[in-house]
Amino acid sequence: MIYLDNAATTQIKSEVLEAMMPYFRDLYENPSASYDSAKIVKKTIEQAREQVANLIHCKPSEVFFTSGGTESDNWAINMIAENYSNKGKHIITTAIEHHAVLHTTKRLEENGFEVTYVGVDEKGMIDIEQLENSIRPDTILVSVMTANNEIGTIQPIKEIGKIARKNKVIFHTDAVQAYGHIPIDVSKMKIDMLSASGHKIFGPKGIGILYIKSGIKTSSFMQGGGQEKGYRPGTYNVPAIVGMGKASEMAMETIDRNIEKYIRDYFLNRLIDEIPLCYLNGDDKERLPNNINVRFEYVDAEALLVLLNRHGICASVGSACTTGQIEPSHVLISIGLNSEQAGESIRLTVSDFTTLNDIDIAVEMLKSSVERLRSASGKYREYIEKNRGINMKSSGWNKKAGE
Ligand code: PLP
Repeated sequence: MIYLDNAATTQIKSEVLEAMMPYFRDLYENPSASYDSAKIVKKTIEQAREQVANLIHCKPSEVFFTSGGTESDNWAINMIAENYSNKGKHIITTAIEHHAVLHTTKRLEENGFEVTYVGVDEKGMIDIEQLENSIRPDTILVSVMTANNEIGTIQPIKEIGKIARKNKVIFHTDAVQAYGHIPIDVSKMKIDMLSASGHKIFGPKGIGILYIKSGIKTSSFMQGGGQEKGYRPGTYNVPAIVGMGKASEMAMETIDRNIEKYIRDYFLNRLIDEIPLCYLNGDDKERLPNNINVRFEYVDAEALLVLLNRHGICASVGSACTTGQIEPSHVLISIGLNSEQAGESIRLTVSDFTTLNDIDIAVEMLKSSVERLRSASGKYREYIEKNRGINMKSSGWNKKAGE
């Protein structure tokens, strides 16, 4: 198997799994209990909180453990809506957010809130001027993702933070794809709330965090015990919390090494050089280091995935959460692709585990599969007829990675 779907989830690192193991069987005490052995477990949770805080440069007391990115996004947005509605009922977000954000804001709209969805340009970069102009006296929240899960575009978070802070509006960012992959400093970037998830950084599934800057009016969305200062009750998922901490610590060590970027650039350059009519979706510079999203013109992406799957190559047509839907990706439509073009696009995401040999095999497989699907396409044959004599390899290329 060649796994090229690391934006959907990642393989757990051995060191992370090893760190978690004792907490399943030997150190199983409920950390909320008062005896000494439980206190040891509680201490490990606090260590994990510190490991997370170190990665995003906040205080450990500002980190709250959740069940994942979806919960963190839901909690952040609903909490601000609940606690700040006396100031206003207007929220600003973007058209390309993950459904964990979009479905939450949709629900709020049904309950009397007004939401502005800021658009993006052809590279997926938000219109910062539109964002600033959208802020009103009744705006209580700006929620903009750090980086997009489909096309990898990284938003100008520092600039957005500055605008929000200047206008005294709370700024939340869904950093699920960015956390651990690119440097984040919540203080320098003026981020008030941040969502992250363990399973995107070689940690376990079902664990995430919400960073809440001290001073933000906080409340729980579930009722229960006193865990997480009573704001996120429920018995601690200790092994997962330990895993999230360890994965965060390991991400700190690898974040500047650019291994993912090296593999990704090699892959992308080969695709662009060797497959005609292949276009990069998204921004070529402000892009997550592990992400490729390409369009092979005259190729049905779903059919391409089937062929790749037959050869043991795992890729996707966008977000794992939307795969199986007939609707074209809202992200690809937002950057100006039509439904047909969106249906020709696939996402290939690498990791530190991906080898150059994996990429060589994947490129060959992509070349032959693209060729096979195009040979069955009437539209492609028409295109060839029209362009007879023209060197196809030089037509319509996007820039290579790093250029
Ligand atoms: N936000 C983004 C940008 C994501 O990519 C994902 C998952 O793919 C989520 C939120 C949801 O995170 P989780 O799977 O941890 O619930």
